Amino acid sequence: MFDHPSYDAHEGVHAFHDAATGLKSVIAVHSTALGPAAGGCRMWNYPTGDAMMTDVLRLSQGMSYKNAMAGIPLGGGKAVIWGDPKSDKSPELFRAFGRAVESLQGTYYTAEDVGVDVSDMSVVRQETRFVAGLDEGAAASGDPSPVTARGVYLGIREVAKRLFGTDDLTGRTIAVQGVGSVGGYTCKHLAAAGANLIITDIDQEALAAVSKSTGARVVAPGDIYDVEADIFSPNALGAVVNEKTLARFKVKGIAGGANNQLVVPEMGEFLRRKGILYAPDYVINGGGIINVAAEISGSYSREWVDATLAKLIVTLGDVLDEARRTDQPTNYVADRIARARIAAARAIR
Ligand code: NAD
Repeated sequence: MFDHPSYDAHEGVHAFHDAATGLKSVIAVHSTALGPAAGGCRMWNYPTGDAMMTDVLRLSQGMSYKNAMAGIPLGGGKAVIWGDPKSDKSPELFRAFGRAVESLQGTYYTAEDVGVDVSDMSVVRQETRFVAGLDEGAAASGDPSPVTARGVYLGIREVAKRLFGTDDLTGRTIAVQGVGSVGGYTCKHLAAAGANLIITDIDQEALAAVSKSTGARVVAPGDIYDVEADIFSPNALGAVVNEKTLARFKVKGIAGGANNQLVVPEMGEFLRRKGILYAPDYVINGGGIINVAAEISGSYSREWVDATLAKLIVTLGDVLDEARRTDQPTNYVADRIARARIAAARAIR
C-alpha cells in the first residue's frame, strides 16, 4: 500500500467487506487539513482490486485539491463500491456502506458519484449522518450534478474567452463525451447558448434523449477523439487524455466535468505543447462539491452556492492566465496552488 504509485501520503485508506450483503468497498481519506474529508461514492465493476484501489486513491487526492481550489472548509476523500450499479445494488448493500462511513466517525462525508444516486444516499442516511447530496432534510442539497454542470458550462466559456477572444459560444462546436447527469445538463446549457454539439455515450437511451432535446449530432464512443470541434468536453470517466488519444485530438481546448482526465499529470505538458488549452478537471468540476459543502455546513443557501461557484470560475480563469503567462501546463499551476492552500491549513492546525 505505502509504495502504491497513487498513495501520495493518504491519511487513511479503509477497506470494508460485509459478508451478508457482499459489500466490497474502500474509503480513502487523503487529507483532513482543511476540514473533514468529503467526496462522492462511486459504484463500478472494476476489472481487478488493484484497479479499484488506484481509482479511489487518485479520486481522493483529487478531492483534496478540488476542495482546496473551491475555497471550502473540507478535506479530500472518496469511496468506491465494487459492483455493477445496474445489477448489484440493494438497500442492504447501501446500509452496509452507511455503517462503514459511520465507523469513520465524521472523518469522511460521502455523497453521490458515478453509479450512485440520491435514492442510494437516502438509504446510507439510515446508518450515518455523515452523508450529503440528500433530497430530504433540513439542509438537503439534492443531486449535485446540475451545479457541477453549471460550473462546467461557465468554465467552457472561460476557456473560449482565452482561445477566441470571446465567451460567446454561438456557432462554436463542442464535442461532449458522456451525456449522463453532468454531461446531459452541460449539453442543455451549451445548446441554449447556441453551440453546435457532437455527443457520444455508451448508453443509447441517454444519447437519444439528449440528441432529441438539443439537436446534437451523435457519434460512436470510439470516434469522439477524432471529430473536428473547438472544445472537447469529457463528462464520462477518467484517463481520456492519454498517449493514444493525444495525437487524435483536433480541438483547441479541453474542458469537462470528468474526474482525472489526464492519465498522468505529464499529459498536461503534452497538451500545452500541442496548443490545447486544458481546464484542470478538479477546478472546473468543483460546483457539485460546493453544493454538497452547503449541506454539510448545516444550512443550505443557494446564494452562498452561487457566490462560491462564481469565485471558483474566477480562480479557473486565474489558473489559465498564470499558465499562459509563465508557459506552464495549466494542471501544474492548479496543483501548486492547491498544495499551497492545503499546506497553509496544515501549518496552522
Ligand atoms: P453519470 O453516470 O450520470 O454519467 C456518466 C455517463 O458517461 C453515462 O451516461 C455513461 O453511460 C457514460 N459513459 C461511460 N463510459 C463511457 C464511454 N467510454 N464513452 C462514452 N460515454 C461513457 O455520472 P455523472 O455524475 O454525470 O459523472 C460524470 C463524470 O463527472 C464522472 O467522472 C464524475 O466523477 C465526474 N463528476 C461528477 C460530479 C457530479 O456532480 N455528479 C461532480 C464532479 C465530477
